[in-house]
Amino acid sequence: MSSDSKERFASISPAEFFKRNPELVGFSNPSRALYQSVRETVENSLDATDIHLILPSVKVSLDRIDLEKEVYRLTIEDNGIGIPPQVVPNAFGKVLYSSKYTIRQTRGMYGLGVKAVLLYSQMYQDRPFEVQTSPRGSNRVYYFKLKIDISRNEPIIFHRSSIENPTGWHGTIITVYLVGDWLRSKQKIYEYIKRTYILSPYAEFTFRDPEGNITYYPRVTNKLPRPPEEVKPHPYGVDIELLKYLIATLRYQYDVRSFLINEFQSIGEITAEEILKQAGVSSSTPASKLTDDQISKLVEVMKKYEKFRPPSADALSTLGEELITIGLNKVFSPDMVSAETRKPKAYQGHPFIVEAGIAYGGAIPPSEFPIVLRYANKIPLVYDEKSDVIWKVVEEIDWRRYGIEENQFPLVVLVHLCSTKVPYKSAGKESIADVEEIEKEIKFAIMSAARQLRLFLLERKKQEDERKRMLTYMKYIPELARSLAVFEASNENEIDSRAKELEKKLIEIVSKKVGLNDPTLYDKLKVEIS
Ligand code: ADP
Ligand code: MG
Repeated sequence: MSSDSKERFASISPAEFFKRNPELVGFSNPSRALYQSVRETVENSLDATDIHLILPSVKVSLDRIDLEKEVYRLTIEDNGIGIPPQVVPNAFGKVLYSSKYTIRQTRGMYGLGVKAVLLYSQMYQDRPFEVQTSPRGSNRVYYFKLKIDISRNEPIIFHRSSIENPTGWHGTIITVYLVGDWLRSKQKIYEYIKRTYILSPYAEFTFRDPEGNITYYPRVTNKLPRPPEEVKPHPYGVDIELLKYLIATLRYQYDVRSFLINEFQSIGEITAEEILKQAGVSSSTPASKLTDDQISKLVEVMKKYEKFRPPSADALSTLGEELITIGLNKVFSPDMVSAETRKPKAYQGHPFIVEAGIAYGGAIPPSEFPIVLRYANKIPLVYDEKSDVIWKVVEEIDWRRYGIEENQFPLVVLVHLCSTKVPYKSAGKESIADVEEIEKEIKFAIMSAARQLRLFLLERKKQEDERKRMLTYMKYIPELARSLAVFEASNENEIDSRAKELEKKLIEIVSKKVGLNDPTLYDKLKVEIS
């Protein structure tokens, strides 16, 4: 056999891979790249604050610094937990390095976000990335200038220094230079910040755009959502590779029985014995000595076993009905808001919770389709709206059933999916795939929130009908009052004043009759009558 000597094999680093495929992580063109860079950095800032019980203050500024090439300087400052100096180079300079590879709900989850920003940054311009950080409790501020060595997937450090931190400030400031397209991304960036703010009314944001406009989004409440807790994997979410990985990284020399009990949720002594019996594995086998056959048998049994409690929802952090209501009220000033947080459910061993909010009327512009606000793990999803399962569900809802009669109506539908594993359609995290269990919950959440809308619209219609009824009666009041006055009055001069008195009395009677206690309404209605 002769081998084809032209065939050449090579291996590339993860950094090289994402540099070659920037569109996979949302960097398909300068406009998308600018938006995605704002988004990844804002998400990191929020992950460094709210889940650590810090009320977030985030400042974003974008400056155009090169008029010829469209180069922007993006600066993000937060008051988060900061980053220990020894991990800064890897956190920013090594693709697939993260503090979030645990089972709990965070915005970031791939260890990719900010590195994708850097890779893109250094592809089209030469300035390094700058980080300034002071970890919570540290008395120093650390300063770095970095790039990524793409072929080795390692940080290159151009500068590192530190100074004393006299103010007690903690947090992170990063500065990155990007070739972008502000005019094309402007609307999406503003939309992204506004939507982030709706779902985090406990945060304050300042945004300075390249045109010099400054927008301040004030904190509306000091109430933070309950932070997520780190949990162990659920047996339904386990596959052969995960089981091997767990065994290889064990800190203790367990027998397989203790391994199952200690490293998984929902497995107690009895369950462990039962699983091992079904898999034909002896309880005293050391976990590290399990054969490939035994491992695959164990996974098979665990997948089929029907008596596990569902996965724990402690790892999730919903916003809650109160905060959703606050956010929608603040941004839309509607006539009605309602919200619903569903009970935890699971798909493929991953817990999830869906919440929904509905806002109607007020300052919301009417249109033929509701404004849909999609969120996953507190991140607003702004692109690829129509391929998202949330959109699909909203599209299937018949709003007339909830009392909407017009063709154009002022309605906002917000849906938030929380999960330790959001089934995104791509690593750019812009739309959620159709998973049957999730789809159902989205539908139920919207429907319960919408029931409040139905009640509100019914009540409003009742009031409207009463108003109309009152108007009909009132048309006759002046005439009736005058006729009665003519009857009653002892002389000509009294008629006018008597008519006025009677008119007032009649209005009172009619108002009471239709359940309206505001006599001044009559003056307002008079205009409508004539
Ligand atoms: P991910 O967010 O998916 O973990 P990133 O590449 O965006 O991946 O970030 C890598 C890591 O850097 C994070 O896991 C976090 O530990 C750290 N990090 C990034 N930005 C900040 C920040 N503003 N404050 C604190 N830590 C941060
Ligand atoms: Mg991130």
